[in-house]
This record gives sequence, C-alpha cells and structure tokens, in this order.
Amino acid sequence: MDLPFQITEILERLELTGFSAFVVGGCVRDFLMGLSPHDFDITTSATPAETKRVFADCRVVETGIKHGTVTVLYKGISTEITTFRVDGGYSDGRHPDSVVFSRDITDDLSRRDFTMNGIAYSPKRGFIDPFGGENDIKRGVIRAIGDADKRFSEDALRVLRAVRFSSVLSFEIEEQTARAIRAHEGDLRKVSVERILAELKRLLCGRDVKRVLLEYSSLFAKIIPPLGEEIGFEQGSKYHDRTLYEHTAAAVENSPPTEEMRFAMLFHDLGKVKCKTTDENGECHYYGHAEISAELCDEIMRGLKCDNSLRERVVRIVRYHDIPVDTERKYIRRQLAKHGAEEFEDIMNAHIADDSAKADFCRERIPKIQEVIKIAREIAAEQPCLSARALAITGEDLKPYVPPSPLMGEILSQLLSEVVDEKIPNEKAALLERARGILEERIQK
Ligand code: ATP
Ligand code: MG
Repeated sequence: MDLPFQITEILERLELTGFSAFVVGGCVRDFLMGLSPHDFDITTSATPAETKRVFADCRVVETGIKHGTVTVLYKGISTEITTFRVDGGYSDGRHPDSVVFSRDITDDLSRRDFTMNGIAYSPKRGFIDPFGGENDIKRGVIRAIGDADKRFSEDALRVLRAVRFSSVLSFEIEEQTARAIRAHEGDLRKVSVERILAELKRLLCGRDVKRVLLEYSSLFAKIIPPLGEEIGFEQGSKYHDRTLYEHTAAAVENSPPTEEMRFAMLFHDLGKVKCKTTDENGECHYYGHAEISAELCDEIMRGLKCDNSLRERVVRIVRYHDIPVDTERKYIRRQLAKHGAEEFEDIMNAHIADDSAKADFCRERIPKIQEVIKIAREIAAEQPCLSARALAITGEDLKPYVPPSPLMGEILSQLLSEVVDEKIPNEKAALLERARGILEERIQK
C-alpha cells in the first residue's frame, strides 16, 4: 500500500520506540477498492501520553483524549493517532461508557463497525485482517464485526453508516447484518440530528441510492415521517407507473449527485399526499402540490438542523420543480431573471429527474428540457441584463424627470421587464427615452 512519506515516517517512529502502529479503517478499505484514500488514520499500541512523548518535537493536539485520540502535526500534515482500545458498555446506544486501552491490534479491530473497516496495515507487519474484510470488499459485502444485533444496539449510528456505505460503495448488506439493521432502525431516534443529516447527505449522493431507499424504506420513514406516507401511495395517473415512494426513489437517483438536487428530489412530491383529487374520469390530480412540498421540505430540513443556505436552495427547487418547460427565448430570459442561471438549471434538472421516473412516454419531454438548458446557457453566456443592478441607468439618471418616489421604482422595474423581454436595448439613451414615454403614458391615464 502506497502511503504518504509522512505517514510512513510516523509509523516507523512509533515502531522504533517499541510500539506497534498501523493505518486503519477507511484508508485501507479505499486502497483495497482501488480508490485513493482521502485521509489516513493511525492506530497504535502507544498510549496518548506515550504518543505525545514520541512526537515531542511536533505540535500535538488532544482532540479526543478520552477516546485515546491525539492529532499530530507532522511535516505539514495533521494525522489522528488513536491508541488501540476496547469499548466498554453502551448504555445510551450512542457512546461507550468507558474505553480501555489495549496493546493488541485485534482488540482494536474488533470494536470497529464493519469487516471492511476492520483492517489494519503497516509496511512492517503487512495487512491485519482478522474478520475477512478483504474478502468482503472483493465481494462487495457489508458485514458487521461480531454479533450484528449487539453491535447496532451499542451504537445506532452504525445502522445509518451501513446504509450510507451501501449506497455510496454499491455494496450489498449481508443478511444477518441487514436483519439487525431492520430490528434497530427505531434506535435512530437516539442519534443526534446533526449526525443523521451528515450521513443522509452522503447516502443521498451515493450511486446506489434508489436501491437503498427502496430496501430500507421503513428506516427512512422513521427518520422523515412524511416520507413514510409516500410508501404504497398509488398515484392514479396515466403519467405514473409506480407508487409515489418508488417514483421518488428513482427521481433521486436520476438527478445529478449534488446535495441540493438529491434532497430536492427526495422531498419534491411530499405535498401530493395532502392534495390528491380525483376527476370524473377517475384520473388523479395534485394541484398546488409543489408549494405544499416546499413547506414540508422547509420544516423537515429545519428539523434536521440543516444550514440555511442548503435548506433555502432545496426549498426553492422543490417549489419550482413543476414550472412549465418552454423553449421560447422570452420565457427563458424571464426565468433566468427570476431564478438566476444556476437555480434555473437545477430546476430544469429536477424536471428531467422527475420525468425519467414516470411512465415511459413522459421521457419524450426530456430532449425539450435539455434544449431549454442549452438555450439558457447560451443566454447566460451573453451576460444579459436580467436584474435591476445591471440596467444601464439608475434612479440617479431619472431624477431630472421623476422625483424620488414609488413611481421611480415602478418605472425602473418596468424598464427592466422590457429589457428582459428584449423590447428595448439596455442602453442609456434608449432607456431614458422609454422612461419619458412611460411617464407620459402614466400622466395621460
Ligand atoms: P469515511 O471517512 O469515508 O466516512 P471511514 O470508514 O474512514 O469512512 P470514519 O468515520 O472516518 O469512517 O471512521 C474511521 C474508522 O473508525 C472506520 O473505518 C471504522 O473502523 C471506525 N468507526 C467509525 N465510526 C464507527 C462507529 N460508529 N462504530 C464503530 N466503528 C466506527
Ligand atoms: Mg475516514
């Protein structure tokens, strides 16, 4: 395994002073999967005090001293070094009551969650893999270390980690482990919303998110109850060939893997449950559902303590996920003026994700949506005037004709709307002339 030189030196230093030391966890898993690790965690037989002594010449921060973790700043990189440990009981289903340091790497590996995360490696000692993690990685299997039921009752976050890994890595969850997940999904209420949100973000961006949403639907209903109401909900419409929840899961996976798009698609149709109507032909309609979905989405994301910026972006995509699709230049310019280029493209991508999760014939509209995106990009590249700030005149220029008043604001916004519609060019002389024209029209009225 290729390690950054600093990591190799840290391991060597610990070994030279009489301790054993390994890289462990995600980085070993990533390496065995052929991916490049994003960070390297080190585990060692040295106690935190011993580690501090070994790195007395470096900056050492006691980041998690209770759990045996210190962070060492070594030749420009900072690395967490954690003492081998076994965890005591977990009476709250979240945190070990006590941790006991150990001198044995196998002890440390056995407290870890899944076999794929329970492998250690050092250049001196090679791979230490007591639970068959490498084999499970080869076969694409997530398996709890030890008794799955016990491991999930110790720490309910593992339930969500398993499902997140399954989505991101496209790994299947082994049967006993899957059964234990289902048995412990209710324990997720013990997990803080911050951690649930963090896992959910990564899970939703995974490439196997649809399978995971469908296989563990009741788990998602526990975390987000309104989503549970979509399960088994028949849409009663010729546009739909599956239940609302199945449609939602497919729409999530069909959208670009960004947090805002994935959350938006997860929540885009929540409002349907609340506004179903049936016409005389037995066809169901959901008038106004986008707005209700947006309100529910806002509430859920506040509950998950999502940051305002992401929440607001998601809510707007949900609110507008259903606007008309039109290739007319004037329409697109108006939408760009309202949403900005980025949000408008997100909204159009939501349309594509939505249509591709409906009955087959609905896909016929997708080329048209793609055409709208193309035109919108061309328009945006021209850097058009689509906001009051970009107008070639300001209130200052109008002062000789109109005193500062609400009327001035009205004139400016009418000028902007005519520029957006390309009725007049965004040029000072033309704008002033038109402003005088508008004034005259007003006076005549
Ligand atoms: P990634 O960083 O890509 O999320 P990772 O496996 O490195 O994956 P971390 O949260 O960084 O995940 O944790 C590092 C290691 O610590 C894991 O590989 C696993 O061995 C162990 N670990 C993390 N969380 C838990 C947990 N809740 N229960 C048991 N072991 C855990
Ligand atoms: Mg990690």
